[in-house]
Amino acid sequence: MTPKHKHILKTFLNGSLRVAEFALNNVCIAKCSFCDIWKQKPKMYVEKEKGLQAIDKLADFGVAHITLTGGEPLMHPNIIDFVKKCTSRSIHSVVLDSAPSLITDEILDGLDEAKSDMISISFDSDDPKVFEESRRIPNIMGGIEDAVRRMKRTKMKSMASILIWNNNHDQMEKLFAKATDMGFDLISINYPTFSKSVLYPLGGEGISLSRANVIKSLQSIIELKKQKRYRIVNSIGSMENIIQYLTDPSTVRYECLGGNRVMFVDWFCDVRPCMQLPNVLGNILTMTKDDFATEPCNRCNMSWYRDFSTFFHGVKSLPIYKEAVTGSRGLY
Ligand code: SF4
Repeated sequence: MTPKHKHILKTFLNGSLRVAEFALNNVCIAKCSFCDIWKQKPKMYVEKEKGLQAIDKLADFGVAHITLTGGEPLMHPNIIDFVKKCTSRSIHSVVLDSAPSLITDEILDGLDEAKSDMISISFDSDDPKVFEESRRIPNIMGGIEDAVRRMKRTKMKSMASILIWNNNHDQMEKLFAKATDMGFDLISINYPTFSKSVLYPLGGEGISLSRANVIKSLQSIIELKKQKRYRIVNSIGSMENIIQYLTDPSTVRYECLGGNRVMFVDWFCDVRPCMQLPNVLGNILTMTKDDFATEPCNRCNMSWYRDFSTFFHGVKSLPIYKEAVTGSRGLY
């Protein structure tokens, strides 16, 4: 177990564990069909000193895992400093990426030296043409293949981040096989979500598939996970919970703890329950523990928030813990 995983365990056992998504900017190279953040104006970046202080404050509140996102976090000039800060506070960190051209050798060396734990790369299709069209990035497949290959000389893991959408929902095995052949260490699944959020609008024709098709797709992923042929980070318990949500939201086993145990921090350092909800709980630089949300939420099926929330339900979470300790099933 790495020191960061030990820290996660320690904060979990003393009841202070939290996880955060920190959006460093709203700038992006990709023009994804299911995300509108690249259209946002003005273009914003968190200021270096504020970003570093924000990570310190998050650590003080028990945050032991941060997903650094954007826009494109690799376009933030201080990305390495933020990862270094995470490491100095024993925070496990993952950097998201959509455009492989940003994963230069210089960035890789910097992230590796800063002890980043993982780069998670969006991966939509095993068909290079379809993939190119969905992200509107020329030769994206070749670029990712090259980036994953170069990542092998570092200690960082690579994760294929797969959104269930119209083009892939019935071809998960093919997609997992392709990601594995390309050398990805892990696979994560994003459940299609519509959001009218002013901060993070999500949606579009590409994810307008029926609930029945999303459920079928999740069932196929659960089967593949049971066969242990691919390293899928989403737990079976969480995916079953999403199926419950899509079937009848009142029957979910795990509600979402957005704003309490899991949270979204934007480039102003404002904390929201998630990227969906408009309410700001406070600014992380001045917040106190009392400012965090207390009521669970069940308004959407957004993967990162719902998946992490399943760990915080006491005895009900036992099946999730069991999956995590059997090695092949836990998040990261
Ligand atoms: S259920 Fe959805 S809307 Fe509610 S806090 Fe979680 S991610 Fe946000």
